[in-house]
Amino acid sequence: MQIQRSPQVHDVVVIGSGAGGGTVVKVLTDMGINVTLLEAGPMLNPNKDFKEHMWPGDVIHRTAGEHGEVYFGKSPYPFGYFLAPNGFWEVPGEPYTVAPGSEFKWFRSRIMGGRTNHYGRISLRFSDYDFKARSFDGLGNDWPISYDEMSPYYDKAEEFIGVTGTREGLRTAPDGKFLPPLPPRVHETLIQKACGKLNIPCIPSRMAMLTKSVHGRAACHYCGQCGRGCKTASAFSSSQAMIFPAMKTGRLNVITGAMARELIADSSSKVTEVSYVEKATRTEKRIRCRSVVVAASACESARLLLNSKSGRFSNGLANSSGMVGRNLTDTVGYSLGGQVPALMNVPRHNSDGIGGMHVYVPWWELEKKNKDFPRGYHIEVGGGFGMPGLGSFRGDCERHEGYGNALKDNIRENYGSYVGFAGRGEMIPNEYSYCEIDPQQVDQWGIPVLRFHFRWSEHEINMVRHMHQTFTNIIEAMGGKAAAKPMPDRSAKAVSLGGEIIHEAGAVCMGDDPKTSVLNRYCQAHEVKNLFVADAAPFLGNPDKNVTLSIVALAWRTAEYLSEEMKKGNV
Ligand SMILES: Cc1cc2nc3c(=O)[nH]c(=O)nc-3n(C[C@H](O)[C@H](O)[C@H](O)COP(=O)(O)OP(=O)(O)OC[C@H]3O[C@@H](n4cnc5c(N)ncnc54)[C@H](O)[C@@H]3O)c2cc1C
Ligand code: SF4
Repeated sequence: MQIQRSPQVHDVVVIGSGAGGGTVVKVLTDMGINVTLLEAGPMLNPNKDFKEHMWPGDVIHRTAGEHGEVYFGKSPYPFGYFLAPNGFWEVPGEPYTVAPGSEFKWFRSRIMGGRTNHYGRISLRFSDYDFKARSFDGLGNDWPISYDEMSPYYDKAEEFIGVTGTREGLRTAPDGKFLPPLPPRVHETLIQKACGKLNIPCIPSRMAMLTKSVHGRAACHYCGQCGRGCKTASAFSSSQAMIFPAMKTGRLNVITGAMARELIADSSSKVTEVSYVEKATRTEKRIRCRSVVVAASACESARLLLNSKSGRFSNGLANSSGMVGRNLTDTVGYSLGGQVPALMNVPRHNSDGIGGMHVYVPWWELEKKNKDFPRGYHIEVGGGFGMPGLGSFRGDCERHEGYGNALKDNIRENYGSYVGFAGRGEMIPNEYSYCEIDPQQVDQWGIPVLRFHFRWSEHEINMVRHMHQTFTNIIEAMGGKAAAKPMPDRSAKAVSLGGEIIHEAGAVCMGDDPKTSVLNRYCQAHEVKNLFVADAAPFLGNPDKNVTLSIVALAWRTAEYLSEEMKKGNV
């Protein structure tokens, strides 16, 4: 295949436009630095791609497909017609493999803004002890940086993206620079009361949705459909809040449909070229660069380094330590719901809000010593009178006799009376969880794919039983009954699969020692000084807080450091 090279040398090439890549693009272009962004997916057009205000009745067959495929058991829309086009568990032509004995699911996105176009926007800071896990209880890793070093970047991230919340003074949920909180709705008030009886804190949620206008983005108008994308950019996405404004500066050169396949280093161990597949023409192109920031999402970033082999780096770029791919983690997940009679037949009222929870439960047993698991989890709550989705009442139709008014009355009686709880717990990295290049398989672009190995340890598995008991207690304290979902004898059967909570992190870890880490404390490769990683790959653990706010904060710090190094002429 003929390779096309461009003579221009780009100052900074950023690979990937999600939470991490978007942040680097924003920070560098704000500082007057020219950036070239390579994004594997197409450009996003919110006016066309986001459908938060569309009614099912406005779409042919109510979205059962152009010709009603859903009626025949086939869905042409893998993740729902209305949802923002942010990706799915399978990417056609781009497989991954899972080693025998492991289970792993990998949710990937291929569009400008990556998964931030429809993520849940739960935005929680890591705590001080999360950065010093090994010192805290002897398990996992200490990060080379502390909470105090990260705190100013959390401030910047929150002030820019806009995060709701209240100052609570809890060590497990550090306070931040918050927008006004969201008021609890009826079901959330009952959940708060039940938690109060059990001495469990239930506080206003911390969500990247705007309760007042920030940086020219309009305040939320509470349509409650954030998963479909948000045309007013009141829900944070890196595409709308970071990339589009950066494009207006004239300092951002965007190349979409560009799948980076290899980073090419010279004899002085600096990346000089990025090779990518131009998907539209299926040709390989190369662009020259002074520095490169890889932000293709944690495992894609590891894959790119592992696929960048040379005489000097036979194990993959910057991988003399052999640590690329290691320390892979995800969040521990378990959910339980129940019905609460007090919520049945509640008079219809306005319960509009964001497309997510208005309250949540931070971890509350940090000091408790006699548990059979070392770390903690937070609880995400669900319920209420949200707009029903297509097929919402299929279960009711099966459960209740009849049709017409009798059936509708039954549905109305029960609607809004269900509550749900999702535990999101910490995973401690272990030697059995990692990704590597599959020696047998390539994707449709000829790029070798990843093979995953994954195993929960007893630390995570034991946590799930505690989640089950807590959720049952809360539902019963509300006067309700938990769903008939028995807890299996071994919690291993109830825990989420690796990757399923979509908080994969690690795989290109940071550290002070080049023998045991790939990146230094600024997410700069120890061995390749003009190579930086800016997604969740540098993370040394996966605390019970959703990862994205920390990706933004760490990427912000990395971008500022890169700009300083560029000014000094070091990069
Ligand atoms: C349904 C859902 C709900 C979620 N809810 C939450 C939540 O509430 N809170 C939270 O913190 N997190 C949540 N997440 C996770 C969150 O979306 C991710 O943590 C975050 O988007 C990761 O950002 P990233 O920049 O690392 O990667 P991504 O957002 O995945 O972006 C990576 C980008 O890189 C591009 N790319 C990949 N490979 C290449 C390549 N080789 N060349 C060029 N480009 C490439 C991709 O096309 C993509 O656009 C959720 C995710 C999903 C899917
Ligand atoms: S609820 Fe608010 S943030 Fe969510 S899509 Fe509607 S306007 Fe946007």
